[in-house]
Amino acid sequence: MPDRKSVNTTCRMCGTLCGITAHIENNRVVDIEGNPEHLFSKGRTCIKGSSAVTWLNRPDRIFKPLKRNMAGEFEEIELERAMDEIAAKLIEIQKKYGDNAIGIWKGEGIDFAQQENLARRFAHAVGTPNYFSNDTQCYASRHIAFHLVYGCWPLADYANADLIINWGTNAPISHSHWMQAINEGREKGAKLMVVDTRYTEIARQADLYVQIRPGTDGALAWGIIREMIEHDEIDHDFVDNFTVGYDKVVEYAQGFSRERVSQITGVSESLISRITDEIAQARPRLASWAGCGLEHQINGVNNIRTITMIDALAGATDRKGGMRIPMGFGLPELTLYKEKPLTELDPIGAKRFPVLYEMRQECHTGLLMDQIISEKPYPFKGLVMTAANPALTNANSAKVRKALSKLELLVVKDLFITETALLADYVIPAASYLEREEMFFNGALRAAFITGKYLDYGLQTEYEFVKGLAERMGAGEYFPWKDDHELNEWLLKPTGYTTADLHTAPGGFIFGENPCEKHLNKLTTGEKRFFDTPTGKIEFYSAHLEAKNIPGIDGLPQYHPPHYLAEPDPDYPILLSTGARKQKFFHGRYRNIPQLYKAEPHGHLEMHPEDAKTLGLKDGDRVRVTSRIGSFETLAQVMHEKEIVRGTMQHTHGFADENVNEVTYDDVSDPISGFPVLKSIQVRVEKL
Ligand code: SF4
Repeated sequence: MPDRKSVNTTCRMCGTLCGITAHIENNRVVDIEGNPEHLFSKGRTCIKGSSAVTWLNRPDRIFKPLKRNMAGEFEEIELERAMDEIAAKLIEIQKKYGDNAIGIWKGEGIDFAQQENLARRFAHAVGTPNYFSNDTQCYASRHIAFHLVYGCWPLADYANADLIINWGTNAPISHSHWMQAINEGREKGAKLMVVDTRYTEIARQADLYVQIRPGTDGALAWGIIREMIEHDEIDHDFVDNFTVGYDKVVEYAQGFSRERVSQITGVSESLISRITDEIAQARPRLASWAGCGLEHQINGVNNIRTITMIDALAGATDRKGGMRIPMGFGLPELTLYKEKPLTELDPIGAKRFPVLYEMRQECHTGLLMDQIISEKPYPFKGLVMTAANPALTNANSAKVRKALSKLELLVVKDLFITETALLADYVIPAASYLEREEMFFNGALRAAFITGKYLDYGLQTEYEFVKGLAERMGAGEYFPWKDDHELNEWLLKPTGYTTADLHTAPGGFIFGENPCEKHLNKLTTGEKRFFDTPTGKIEFYSAHLEAKNIPGIDGLPQYHPPHYLAEPDPDYPILLSTGARKQKFFHGRYRNIPQLYKAEPHGHLEMHPEDAKTLGLKDGDRVRVTSRIGSFETLAQVMHEKEIVRGTMQHTHGFADENVNEVTYDDVSDPISGFPVLKSIQVRVEKL
C-alpha cells in the first residue's frame, strides 16, 4: 500500500505565497492544487506552482554536497566534511584579511521566510557586517521610498476600493495573488487605471490605460498633484494633522503644468485631466501600487515617493478601500544589529549609499563586485550564497563572473546547479519548501501562515546550515535552537500562540483585526506620533533625507529627468528595458522544467513595429543588442503598436542563452537606493 497524504501548505516557487494542497505518495510529491481556504490566493495557482511536481522530482536535483577538485571539476563530498572545510576556510580568510573579508548573500531560489534574518544573524554572529541580498536589485528601492514618506509600506485594499491604480506593475504575472482582490473590487464597481510603458496583461484589463515614457513617472505624479491642488481635491484635515511639507509641495507642484508634463511624459493633457478627475471621484477609496517598473531609474526613489504622496493628499492613507497601514506582531528580533552593529567594519556600500544601508541594513551587491575585483577599500575573499544566481540575474554579468571567480571561497547552497553554482568551490544541496517548517506574517491581514516538513530527503535546512557553520566558527551561542521548529516556537512566544495554533489554519491564522483609521484614534487620545517617520507624520518633505547631503537630492522628491534624457548617447539610440517577468519563470529559475522551457525556450527582444521596420526586422530575426559594456544575441519580436512605446524595447532576464545582463551597466544608479538603471539601458540593435 503506498503511503499517501495530502497537506495544506504554501507554494514557494515565487514570492506570491499562494496556498496549495500538496498530494504526497511515498515521500514524493505527485500533485499540487490550489487551496480554496487560503486567505488571499483562494484556490488559485499558476503554471509554475503546479509544475513543482516536475521540478522537485527532477533527476538533476542536487542531493549530495559537491566540492571542486584540483582538476576544476565537482566531486561529491560528505556534508560534515564540507561544512568543516568551509568553516575552516572562512576563519582562515578572516584571520588573513580581516573579519569583514567574508559575507553571506540571501537569494530567492529557496524562498524561506526566516532565511533573510538568519543570514543577517549569521553574518554578525561571525563578525562581518556584510549581508547581501537580491533586494538591492529589486524591491529595496520601493521599500526606501515608502518608508521615507510613511515609515512603513502601506498595502492597497483593492477589494474595497473605488479606484485601483497599478503603476509600473503587472499583477497577473508578478503579483498574481492580488488579482483575487482586484477582481473583487472591480466586481463591486471599482475602476482600474494602469500607468506603464508597456501594454501589459493588467493594462489590457484597465478602464484607463496611460502609456508613459520610461522614467518620467515622477513628472506625471507632480502634474496630478498640481491638478489636485488647483481643483482643491486635497483632504485638508488629513494633510493638516498628519503630514509635513505640504506648503513645499504646493510651491514645487506649480512647475508642472499640464502642458509641460505632457511634453515630458508623452501623456496627453486631456488624459492628465481625466486621471485627476478619476482620483477626485474615488477619493479616499483609492488603492494604488507602485511596482518594480519604477525603481530601476536614477530618479526611481523620488518618482515612487511622489506617486505615493498622491494617496496621502487624497486622504486614502489608513482608510478602508485605500492604503492599509500594516500592524506588527511583536516578534522578537532575530538579527543582531542592536547587539553587534559592526558599522565600524565598513559594510560594503554603506558610505556610497548611506540611505540604503540605514533603511535596509544591507550591503550593495553591485559595489561588492567592484570591491572583490579592486580589493579596495579592503579585500573581500569569501562568500556564502543561499540560492542566489547573480551570474545570470545581476546587472553586468561579465563583471559578476569575473568577481566571483576571483574569490578564495564561494559556497552556493541550492537545489540545482545554476550559472553561479558553476563558479563555486562548494555546492551544498538545499531543502525545498516541502522539506522544512516556515512561517510568514502578513501585517495588513494580521495573519500568519505556516508550512511543515512534509518530505524528508535528509537534506540540511537553511537553519541547520547557518547554525552548523556558526558553531564551527565559534559563534554557536547565537543559534541555540535545535531546529527550525524550535526557532519558530521562540519567535512566536511573545504572541501567546504556538506553531500548533498556526497549523490549525494553514490557509491563514488570523491574530486579530487590523483596524483602519488608527491615526484618528491617536489624535483623539492626544498622541503626537502617528506614523513611524522621524517626525511621526507622513513626510512629503524629509529633513532627514536632506541632511544626508546626497548631491542633487533635496528633502522634497523633486523630479529629475531619467539618465537617457540627462545624458543621451547618440551611439546607442534605443532604450532597452529588462525585468518584466514571464509567468512561467521566476527570474533565473525554472527553465529546467521541461514543459515550461519548451513553451518558451528563448528570450525575445520586444519592439514597436515602426522600430522593426527601421531596422529591417521581422518576427524571429536574429539580432545583436550592444551597449557600451557588452552585447548579446537574441530574437526579434515585433509587437502591436499599442504594446510598447516607440524607441523602447523590452527583453526579459533569466535566459542563459540570451542573457540581457551582458548589456546592463551597473555604474549608473539612483543616488538614494543605489539601484542600477535597468529600465532604459541605452543600446543599439542590429540584424544578424
Ligand atoms: S504565483 Fe504560482 S509560483 Fe507563485 S506562489 Fe502562486 S502558485 Fe506558486
